[in-house]
Amino acid sequence: MLHKTKLAVIGAGSAGLTALKEAQRVTDDIVLINHGPYGTTCARVGCMPSKALIAPAQALQRRSFLASAGVCGTEALTVDIPALLAHVRGLRDRFIQGPIKLAESLGQRLFSGRARFLDANTLEVGGERIAAERIIIATGSRPVVPAAWQTLGGRVLTSDDIFEQQDLGRRVAVIGLGAIGAELGQALALLGLDVIGLTHGETVAGLSDPAVSDALLAALGRDMRIVTGVEAELQPLGETAVRVHAGGQVHEVDWVLASLGRRPNLDGLGLEALGVEIDARGMPAFNRQTLRMDEFPIYIAGDVSGIRPILHEAADEGRIAAYHALHPEAECLARRTPMGVVFTEPGAATAGKRFSELQGEDFVVGEADFSRQSRALMEGRNAGLLRVYLACPDGRVLGAEMATPGAEHLAHLLAWAIQAEMTVDQVLQLPFYHPALEEGLRSALQAARRALGQRRVTPDLPLCGEPAAWALGGA
Ligand SMILES: Cc1cc2nc3c(=O)[nH]c(=O)nc-3n(C[C@H](O)[C@H](O)[C@H](O)COP(=O)(O)OP(=O)(O)OC[C@H]3O[C@@H](n4cnc5c(N)ncnc54)[C@H](O)[C@@H]3O)c2cc1C
Repeated sequence: MLHKTKLAVIGAGSAGLTALKEAQRVTDDIVLINHGPYGTTCARVGCMPSKALIAPAQALQRRSFLASAGVCGTEALTVDIPALLAHVRGLRDRFIQGPIKLAESLGQRLFSGRARFLDANTLEVGGERIAAERIIIATGSRPVVPAAWQTLGGRVLTSDDIFEQQDLGRRVAVIGLGAIGAELGQALALLGLDVIGLTHGETVAGLSDPAVSDALLAALGRDMRIVTGVEAELQPLGETAVRVHAGGQVHEVDWVLASLGRRPNLDGLGLEALGVEIDARGMPAFNRQTLRMDEFPIYIAGDVSGIRPILHEAADEGRIAAYHALHPEAECLARRTPMGVVFTEPGAATAGKRFSELQGEDFVVGEADFSRQSRALMEGRNAGLLRVYLACPDGRVLGAEMATPGAEHLAHLLAWAIQAEMTVDQVLQLPFYHPALEEGLRSALQAARRALGQRRVTPDLPLCGEPAAWALGGA
């Protein structure tokens, strides 16, 4: 049977469902196709269950602070891992309801099955054909697991499987310490597992500033063993354990969390049949602003595009793809200031340009040491470093990297200031409460301004009648 539609969206994840909602402003003539479980990666196996696991782990971590502050009885706290995993699944089951309902609201216009291109306007799904004026590919990504590791069965888990376990073996090697490995690895260690983290790179948690990454490594190193700059190889050990070879050392563990990165779900879509240019990594050529694939009526959005594989960016790409699909001649939409957060303790975050992206630019750095920050000390969370980068000579805030308590909040403040194109003077004219973690951010900004070498003659207060900083835009 042939179904005709204005827009077909492939993938009922965060990008696909946001594209759907964006397109519904203009038309209801939309078809949604999804292969695999509904509920989105974020709610089912990603952002949400991971943070549901991390929250009790970090709460438990507070017991040593409480004990040091005179609270008795904390040593009696124990963790029931099966109960904790059931708690995570309980929350997960709540979070997936919304996305499932949204997909189901399409009724007959929802197709379950793997989509495959027959030509640039025609898809085949489970023997049915869909002729669409425009198509959005929002098929997400999946964890990378080397073929040799797959033979180890349940001894090698990824973020796709971990929350489904009834229990977890005590000894675990977390291989890959990007965002997912760093935050899940630390959480497992805080829950009492014996964790060794092994990673190929020298920096962790998506940080590119070596000083900030080293501060995070020092903090994580209190909870788990970490070895950087190594390639890990796995060997089965009997029926139930694994031998991990890395950097000349051998570690025996019960299981491995493979957090080696994610691969776009493009295989099986039949893109080759369209004659689209495909690079060595299997990515089709597309315009990074409009997300359109060459001159094809096809757009690519979310993790599958590989541009910024995080939730709010996947959703934005869904918006952009749907907008351009339905308004092909429209001016392109701008992206928000980049921001990334990793939910370790201290948290790791980037806002605006990362340190690695600034190389070759004229910029200065200011930093604040959170091991001495007063609010962090009161909370027993005193660890880490924040580094902020300013443009020379105008003092515009370009970016920041941090490993600090409350990083998720400090990163928001910085990203908002950067998107408003504020200078360091304008940010320092905003209120900072006492005693707050934000005062650490102010210290870093003040240090960066000193590094600019400009002497200020007026206090950090707006002049009467001066327009608000955010109204100045790029002043
Ligand atoms: C453990 C973990 C923690 C994370 N934590 C965070 C976080 O804290 N903050 C954050 O911002 N981001 C986080 N992320 C990233 C975030 O989850 C993703 O960026 C986001 O879910 C991507 O959405 P998407 O729509 O691109 O993909 P998905 O939600 O994966 O949707 C893709 C959909 O397409 C379907 N599909 C695939 N192939 C086909 C096909 N051929 N035909 C039809 N359908 C197909 C899939 O089954 C799926 O339903 C995390 C990810 C993981 C794994």
